[in-house]
Amino acid sequence: MPTIGGYDIGRLLGHGAYGETYEATKSGERVALKLIREEAIQQGYDVRRFQREVRALQKAVGRHVVRFIDSGVGLIGNETRYFVALEYLEGQDLSRAFHSAGNTFSEPDLKRIITQIIAGLDTVHAQNIVHRDLKPANVFLNQSGDVKLLDFGLVKMLDYTTLTTMPGQPIGTPLYIAPEILRGDVVDYRADFYSLGVMIYHLVTRGNYPFTARTPLELYAQVVNNPPTPPTRHNRLLSSEFENLILTLMAKQPYERPSRHDELGQGIQTTPIDVPPQAKVVTSPKKVSYQKKCFFHLLQTEKGDIEQFVNAGGRLDSVIYPAHFLPRYKKSLEEFRNLGVPYFFDPMTYRLAYSSFAQTQGLVKLPYVPNPKNVLAPAALQSLQAQQTYARACIDWQLQWKCSILVAPFHFCRDLSSPWTDIDIKLIEESIAYAQSKTNAPSVYAWLCINIEQYTIESNRLALLNRYSRARADGYFFYVDTFDERTNNPLQLRAYLDIIQLFQKLGKPVFACRVGTLGLGFLAAGADGASTGIASLTTFSESTLLVNRSSGYDMTKKYYIPGLMLTLPVPMAQDILSDNRNSSLRCNCPHCGGASRGLDKFAKAHFLYARTQEIAMLNSLGDSSQRLDWFIKRVRDAFQNCENVRKQQVVALTPGYYSHMRVWQQVFSPPTGGSP
Ligand SMILES: [Zn+2]
Repeated sequence: MPTIGGYDIGRLLGHGAYGETYEATKSGERVALKLIREEAIQQGYDVRRFQREVRALQKAVGRHVVRFIDSGVGLIGNETRYFVALEYLEGQDLSRAFHSAGNTFSEPDLKRIITQIIAGLDTVHAQNIVHRDLKPANVFLNQSGDVKLLDFGLVKMLDYTTLTTMPGQPIGTPLYIAPEILRGDVVDYRADFYSLGVMIYHLVTRGNYPFTARTPLELYAQVVNNPPTPPTRHNRLLSSEFENLILTLMAKQPYERPSRHDELGQGIQTTPIDVPPQAKVVTSPKKVSYQKKCFFHLLQTEKGDIEQFVNAGGRLDSVIYPAHFLPRYKKSLEEFRNLGVPYFFDPMTYRLAYSSFAQTQGLVKLPYVPNPKNVLAPAALQSLQAQQTYARACIDWQLQWKCSILVAPFHFCRDLSSPWTDIDIKLIEESIAYAQSKTNAPSVYAWLCINIEQYTIESNRLALLNRYSRARADGYFFYVDTFDERTNNPLQLRAYLDIIQLFQKLGKPVFACRVGTLGLGFLAAGADGASTGIASLTTFSESTLLVNRSSGYDMTKKYYIPGLMLTLPVPMAQDILSDNRNSSLRCNCPHCGGASRGLDKFAKAHFLYARTQEIAMLNSLGDSSQRLDWFIKRVRDAFQNCENVRKQQVVALTPGYYSHMRVWQQVFSPPTGGSP
């Protein structure tokens, strides 16, 4: 049996880049003996310096660190080996324990293990020792499940290059190493907090890593430069608060990380790892019924129309006001409050991702715009700090102006692979957390801005629901691109309707926005709300984001003819209504009084009147099938009326104006007996 420094070397316990660990005995005491190859020791380390370092390590005594017993140098055969004798432990390392537990630990186990690692780090850090190589393989779980940290302080003595480029060394190893070590910066104990962050990441994501790379070099570059993949990408049930904890530990700069062990331990103890079960997607529809609502998107010029309508006795559920009109149009908000009209903001954040935002007056001055001189890109919102700053400033702006509903910042996520998706979900979570820290803050809604085409595929609609459901918003708004009320594409219309119905399973109000008169169909089919502009802003389209704001709006004066379910240019509407064959299409509301000329003076107040009457009608109907019957009958009559007007040839009302009503009938008609 070979010996070194008086130790009888027994069986091999393990090996690493530096050498091997053996079971050994000396004077009846059993130890773990680490034999370090001479070439693994850093230049400048002689025996004396090596032993001085080990004496420092011997001072790190605590329940959760392995005990250093002895060290020295000797010959095995004719090879010089440095050795360290350590307390002998029975059990297994965390890497193996995790693997044999099927790559998942229960929440209490995880919390206990992490807390004990922090306690171990506290012991070594108190001796000014930095571990530098914390990873599951050197966190040991003894037979009673207690954590013991191994190998701390040793990395400092070892030649780093031999550790990481050793042939056959898995590139997994440098995954845990802090960016400042890779950068060659000054290193302190917070480098271990970074490693701890990666380790927790690994443990809560069934063994995933924050970075994926094909070569060590690529991995180093990522650790130094790139944000980690959000852990919730791998584990959808992970709570936003716990994700934040991991991301803060993994911040690129040490100053951004926690600095106190006790606070960190407390944070781990008190933060739920998984989101509470009630937030999981429910599989059976929850029966929640809300009053059907219609919100009106306002232009800054339309305050007078609201006054006209309300002064004649009208009531509005709410108006949606573009955030960037403030503070220039603050009188409008005062006026809405005086009139008892609730309002909330479209924060307009989606425009920030397009260069035309800089041409939009007011938008560049909003306090939550991260950089008025630059187009907002996902890269600018990778760090938790940047996300929180943005979300909080956006919510503050809405609180400052007393909005009745708060909206988290949102961006156009064309499809599920959009880099904005994860960021937007995080922004929703951060907005909610921030609003909850305020007293009496209104509810926080998520606003999804998508293109419909990808969601004509059913599995994508489910994926969308699963992705967003984790944010636990108080309600959902939708902007859907490549889609308007005059769509002739039944699959797109069905897809949109299905998204609305799917999101209703979360038991929160769901609103289809900027859908014009089609909104009545959505409401009939179950949506809790719809929004429209007052004869403008009836659609959402990415193409309007690419140009200056006002050019996206149709500013022509228009008049809504309820009997045709069409909003037509005023001259055309006047010609139709002036013909006595169409007298039944004239409106007798308090604004119109049966008029067929001079419609432009009250067109908007009339529209508000007609639409709110339609919503009141929908609310008076008891159930969904009655509402759908009412809608289908309205559409059928409107289609027939349009046909009649076309045949009169007074105006050029071609079928292109109303052919979409066929699609409406097709999609909203309840399934007839026999067919699925
Ligand atoms: Zn009218």
